[in-house]
Amino acid sequence: MRAKATLYNKFFYHFVFYLVINMLEVDVIIVGAGASGLMCAIEAGKRKRKVLVLDHANKPGKKILMSGGGRCNFTNYTVEAENFVSENAHFCKSALSRFTQWDFLEMIHAQEIPYHEREHGQLFCNESARDILDMLLSECDKVGADIRLKADILSVQKHAESGFVVKTKTQEITCQSLVIATGGLSIPKMGATPFAYKIAEQFGIKVQTTRAGLVPFTLHVADKEKFAVLSGLALPATISNARQSFTENLLFTHRGLSGPVALQMSSYWYEGEELTINLLPELDLQDQLLQAQKQKIRLKVKNYLCQFLAKRLVVIFLPEELLDLSMLDLTHKQIQRIAEQFNHWKIKPNGTEGYRTAEVTLGGVDCHAISSKTLQANQVPGLYFIGEALDVSGWLGGYNFQWAWASGWCAGQSV
Ligand SMILES: Cc1cc2nc3c(=O)[nH]c(=O)nc-3n(C[C@H](O)[C@H](O)[C@H](O)COP(=O)(O)OP(=O)(O)OC[C@H]3O[C@@H](n4cnc5c(N)ncnc54)[C@H](O)[C@@H]3O)c2cc1C
Repeated sequence: MRAKATLYNKFFYHFVFYLVINMLEVDVIIVGAGASGLMCAIEAGKRKRKVLVLDHANKPGKKILMSGGGRCNFTNYTVEAENFVSENAHFCKSALSRFTQWDFLEMIHAQEIPYHEREHGQLFCNESARDILDMLLSECDKVGADIRLKADILSVQKHAESGFVVKTKTQEITCQSLVIATGGLSIPKMGATPFAYKIAEQFGIKVQTTRAGLVPFTLHVADKEKFAVLSGLALPATISNARQSFTENLLFTHRGLSGPVALQMSSYWYEGEELTINLLPELDLQDQLLQAQKQKIRLKVKNYLCQFLAKRLVVIFLPEELLDLSMLDLTHKQIQRIAEQFNHWKIKPNGTEGYRTAEVTLGGVDCHAISSKTLQANQVPGLYFIGEALDVSGWLGGYNFQWAWASGWCAGQSV
């Protein structure tokens, strides 16, 4: 009898020990220790909420470290709703106005992180993106936010009384507020997953179709072969379609078209659509050629054009019979044809390089289902979505981080 009781006690104590070790209660669980998740953790921590950040990666903030060529383009001097792509164009306005680029700069100044401005108001670290990550981690530390890495989440359940129960391989954790900050699908090698979309679907929230954004274009085989010799060539260009137009540097690569102007345009491009590229955005070539004829310039066409464009580009774009003509012999039709080639080059990309190299994911958790002020799901109290997981994607230029900081900050005030 006594032996049986001892066995029972042993079992009971083991069971209690198991529960203590394996069950945990916090106020807020944030899934994703990236830009938005860390910002949210800091703000919730400042409000004395007990915060646990879970991430399946072995290190936090990996995308911050690789961003901006290792220098992190952390924000921009000018941030407007027009710099973002979303099915719900007004959604981002509230968060962006509550936590602005100036608020983030205040944090940067407080830490004395050296930074500089590049073109279009883009702000980069002078030294390393690590400065930004270290700042976020040290702020998390100050407010006692706990960050757990290599945490694989097995399930998320909502319970009427206790809020949410998040099950990892080793623990069951309950929380009042659950924040999904797992980003989008870009760069799967860095640990990107569709976790946010799955959670949204689990709770009946619509997910807008996702596709790669801020990504180089690939070309059809014939064009790829034709333009392969231009690989490495960069020049200012304007790329347009019916909805949008950008002027920045264009880079020919061995796969297709890259450079900031191509990346920007990719976020506004749909499969099968033709793009118009102006390879001389500062010059009306037809007018220039007509003027040259009036001035009786006797150069060969190819030599004349080489004043404005790289020779290898001129040679690829025009047939030999035109290249060797004297400028004086050009007919009006030929002038129009040459100008059309460089001022209105029409090209239909084959596709994009996809999530493998995309800087951002377009589409995502439908903003119509989320409060623009708190980032809480309208129909699921306690559930929040922030950062790139949402259907808000910024232009190139620090806008995606500003969205991550702003949405993370706003959720942090509410969780
Ligand atoms: C190469 C590159 C360069 C970039 N450069 C810039 C730049 O200079 N400026 C700019 O503004 N934007 C830049 N971006 C975009 C920017 O990095 C993202 O928009 C931003 O990091 C999004 O923040 P987030 O918190 O939403 O997601 P992320 O920063 O992606 O963080 C998501 C976190 O969730 C974790 N996670 C994912 N799935 C799970 C899961 N199932 N379980 C647990 N954890 C999970 C990930 O490990 C990650 O830590 C760049 C992106 C790339 C890919």
